[in-house]
Amino acid sequence: MPNELPNNQAIRYGFTDQSASNYFAIWDPPILHGRDASESRFFAVQVLPFRGVDPSLLTRFVGIGGAFGTALPPPRMSSAVSSMSSAIRGAPVRPRIHRAARKAASRLTTRARAVEAPPKTEKSTKKSSKGYRVGVDTLNTFLFREETAGRVNGDLAIIVNNIAIACKKISNLVAVAPISGLTGLAGSSNESGDEQKKLDVISNDIFCDAMSETCRANMIVTEEEDVPLRVEAISGDYIVCFDPIDGSSNIDAAVTTGSIFGIYSSGECVITDGDSVEDAMEKCVLNARKSGEELVCAGYVMYSSSTVMMLTCGDGVYGFTLDTATGEYVLSHDDVKIPDPGQRIYSGNNGNVDKWAPEMKAYVRYLQLGGADKDKAPFSYRYIGALVGDFHRTLLYGGIWLYPPDASAPQGKARLLYEVAPMGYLAEQAGGMAMWGETAEKRVMEVVPQNIHQRSPMFVGSTSMVKDLQEFLADRAPVYRNGPRDEL
Ligand code: MN
Ligand code: MN
Repeated sequence: MPNELPNNQAIRYGFTDQSASNYFAIWDPPILHGRDASESRFFAVQVLPFRGVDPSLLTRFVGIGGAFGTALPPPRMSSAVSSMSSAIRGAPVRPRIHRAARKAASRLTTRARAVEAPPKTEKSTKKSSKGYRVGVDTLNTFLFREETAGRVNGDLAIIVNNIAIACKKISNLVAVAPISGLTGLAGSSNESGDEQKKLDVISNDIFCDAMSETCRANMIVTEEEDVPLRVEAISGDYIVCFDPIDGSSNIDAAVTTGSIFGIYSSGECVITDGDSVEDAMEKCVLNARKSGEELVCAGYVMYSSSTVMMLTCGDGVYGFTLDTATGEYVLSHDDVKIPDPGQRIYSGNNGNVDKWAPEMKAYVRYLQLGGADKDKAPFSYRYIGALVGDFHRTLLYGGIWLYPPDASAPQGKARLLYEVAPMGYLAEQAGGMAMWGETAEKRVMEVVPQNIHQRSPMFVGSTSMVKDLQEFLADRAPVYRNGPRDEL
């Protein structure tokens, strides 16, 4: 009986069962010196299939097992434990180590339980109106079935799939940015005058590569490039517009960010041999100015506590959460509708309130006083500062997000092609409203941009809240409906 046990890294002892397909390991030698061999049960149930362990090491374990009196240990764990226990029984008592051992044993017990009975995840098999199963169906099965049903064509499905893959890469980069030197500025600025973060630049490359490799889009418009990029498409004539990282100022603080994309139909910019480079460029630029009405698909991928893709291809909004264990986007949000009435939340850059038109200023004050129903509590204020994050909350909880024009940004801040229109499309597909204009009377989906980086104000959210805003801005009706409040 050896008192001094060989030290083979972390794993001290092991057995193999007769089929040699399962290996039992016993960890932590202090316990082996324990007074009561029955305690060895606690750690002996650390049963692990030794995937990834050097097989030569396992052979040695088997040999050690043999030294304890079982040439080939019995297949059942209880037998393995009992033979181990009897082997240990003769070991010398060392009380001081024993105390430490008890502690370790209880810790191991907890761990063993976790190994023995992993919590079972309940998977909903409830089918939606379109037959999708939450927690089961993946983005791929979704796209495949949408294609079969004729709602999405193959080229579009390939584009969406490639966007999803690009976003997996970006999601990883965002997650480890602080330890891989990816925080901070890249030392350049984009067309809109924003300072580019390192991740803005890298994510833009990932997106551009993904789209050019797809060969299904003939033009790319990105926040990070001054001009549209023309790419070779073997089929499909889509214009893919994206904001590779929305809310990139949040990255360094590990706050929510996301990627937004809009896929617009057709309008190949036909370049003839006679066109100069400038002519060709102009044709492409002109061709890329699409209103939201020409979106065939839009969505975003949010990088937060989960990585979630929200997607519409013109027939409802569906959400897919990235399962990092399998690398699959799994359906998590089925046929999303913005709650109405939703939660009493408003969102927007309140710091700018003094730059807003008096009516907008009054509207915010009106919400703070309880809105149309003056007896109710004030609206809650929530603002992440990343459109993706604020919009995602609005989509799921309801409320209103507003970016009105102000003195220093007469067109608001969000960009039409790859922020406002895609979000507007999602909102409308989810039964909400996305408006702009002095009295929030125009759909953002109808705006035809003058240039590809054009901005637009936006008021988006639950239908009843946007309608209330319209009424308020039109004649401040709710205020009078409830009796005038001096302050307003
Ligand atoms: Mn953005
Ligand atoms: Mn961005």
